[in-house]
Amino acid sequence: MQKFIFVTGGVLSGLGKGVVAASIGLLFKLQGYRVSLQKIDPYVNVDAGTMSPYEHGEVFVTHDGKETDLDIGRYERFVNERLSAAHYMTTGQVYWNVIRQERIGAFLGKTVQVIPHITDEIKRLIRKPLLESGAEIGVVEIGGTVGDIESLPFLEAVRQMKDELPGDDTFFVHLTLLPHLSTSDEIKTKPTQHSVKELRGIGIQPDAIVARTELPLPDSVKQKIALFCDVPQDNVIEDPDLPSSYHAPICLHENGLTRCIAAGLRLEERELDLSEWARRVDAMTTAADRVRIGIVGKYVELKDSYISIRESFTHAAIAEGVDVALEWISSEAIAEQGADSLLRNVDGLLVPGGFGDRGIEGKIQAVGYVRKHQVPCFGLCLGMQCMAIEFARDVLGLRSANSSEFDLDTPDPVIALLEEQERVVQKGGTMRLGAYEATLRSGTISRESYGQDHIVERHRHRFEFNPTYRERFERAGMQIAGTSLDGKLVEIIELPSHPWFVGVQFHPEFTSRFLSPHPLFRSFVRACQSSKPSSPRSSS
Ligand code: GLN
Repeated sequence: MQKFIFVTGGVLSGLGKGVVAASIGLLFKLQGYRVSLQKIDPYVNVDAGTMSPYEHGEVFVTHDGKETDLDIGRYERFVNERLSAAHYMTTGQVYWNVIRQERIGAFLGKTVQVIPHITDEIKRLIRKPLLESGAEIGVVEIGGTVGDIESLPFLEAVRQMKDELPGDDTFFVHLTLLPHLSTSDEIKTKPTQHSVKELRGIGIQPDAIVARTELPLPDSVKQKIALFCDVPQDNVIEDPDLPSSYHAPICLHENGLTRCIAAGLRLEERELDLSEWARRVDAMTTAADRVRIGIVGKYVELKDSYISIRESFTHAAIAEGVDVALEWISSEAIAEQGADSLLRNVDGLLVPGGFGDRGIEGKIQAVGYVRKHQVPCFGLCLGMQCMAIEFARDVLGLRSANSSEFDLDTPDPVIALLEEQERVVQKGGTMRLGAYEATLRSGTISRESYGQDHIVERHRHRFEFNPTYRERFERAGMQIAGTSLDGKLVEIIELPSHPWFVGVQFHPEFTSRFLSPHPLFRSFVRACQSSKPSSPRSSS
C-alpha cells in the first residue's frame, strides 16, 4: 500500500502547514501506519545550507547530514523518528538532478522541458522516501502559497500523481485563513474561495479544507465554505489559534481531520491513543517553579532561527516539571552594555551555534560572566567554541586567543579549521555534517546525563577545538568530557569546578523530541533549577 496526503496552503504564508503536516503524520503513525513526511521547498537553492536564518529560519540537519528546512525538525519532533535527506526537496535539487542527467546524455535528442522531465523527477523524488523507508502513507507538504510561480511544477506533478494513482490513493488537504472583520464581526470566506479557485485552475480539487480561525467557526460558515469550495461540510476542519504547536494534533483530531482523511483514502478505522501526548501537553502549563534561561545569540529577534533550541527547552521543561522562561538577549547588546546588566537575573545561559564574527565578543563576555558567577552554562557548537576562547583568554592568560574563523592572524587559534576542511572551497553541503559517534569520559556531567559511554550526535561545523592546546586546557582544569571515537576531535568540554558548564561541538537540539527530550537539555534545566539563587546576583 502506498497512499499520499498532499498539504497545500492558500491565502497567506506562515499559517502552519508544517504543523498540520506533522500532526497528520503523528495521527496516522499512532494508528499503526508506517508514515513518511516530506517537505518540498520551492526555492532554487539546492538545500537550505546556504540560506541565512534571517531569511529562512533555522537550518535543520538530518542524521545523514542534509541541511534542510526547519519543518523537517518539526516532523522529527512530532513523529519521534529520524528522517533522511530524501524527505526534503527543493527546486534547485530537482533541476540539478535533471541538468546532470541532460549533461551525461540521458535525454539525448529530446528537448528537456518542465513537463514531463521536471515533473517526472519531482514524482520520483516524492516516491523515494516511501521506497527507502517502506512507509505506507506519504505526507507531502508543498511549501509556499498556491498562486506562487515557484510552486507550479510541484502542484502539476502532484496533479499528475492524482490522475495516475487510484482515486483513493491521494488526498489533498488545503490550509487557508478565515479573517475576522472586527468592524462587522464577520468571519470572511472569500480569500479561501479564491485560493481554492486558484488550486482548481491548476487541476487540483481539495478534499479537505483546514481553516485557520481566531474565532470559533459557526456551522453557517462551514456550510458556505463547503458549498463554494465543493467539499463535504464534514471535511471543513476548524483550526483555531492554539497555545502551542503540540496542541494541534489533538485539536485537529477532535475536529475530524483524521476521520475525513481516513475515509477519503479508504483506510480502515483504527484505535488511536493520544493519551501520552495529551498528558505532556497538559504538563506544559502546570509547572510551578520557574527558571529563567538567557539565550545569547545574534538572531534573537527572530525566534524561528533557534526553533529547535526553543522546542528542546519545551520538551525538557515538561519532563522536569519546571516552567522554563527563555530570555533572548542580543550578543551585540552584551558587548555594548556589559554582561552584568543583561544577565544578572538569569538562572542559566545558553550560547547557540552560529557563523561569522558579528556579536562574538558579546558571547565571550557572557560566557565569562556566568563562568565566574557559577551560573549554569550550555554552549552549542559556536557556543562551545566561545567557552574555549574565553577560558584560554582569562584562565590560560592567552589574551589574544581566538578562533581562526574570526581572526586568521591570532597567535593562539584555540579553535582552528578542521583538517578535512583545509581544501574545501565550495560552500553548499561541505561542512562536517550529520551524525558522528563520540565516546564519553566517566565521571563527567555528560556521561551521567546520557547514561551511556557512546553517543551519536549531529554536527554542522568547519572549525574545531585545536588539539595542540588540549593539554594546557586540561592542566588548568577544563575537562575533555567527550571525543570522537579515534580520540582526535574534542566533542565536549566541561568545567568540573563549576555547577554546570558544558560545551558541545554538536547540536543536541536536533535530536530532542516531544516524547523523548534530550538528556543534556534535561540535565541543564535541572542544574538551572537547583543552583537558582534566592535573590538576584549582586553586580560585579
Ligand atoms: N562557525 C563555527 C564552525 O564552523 C560553528 C558552527 C556552528 O555553530 N554550527 O565551526
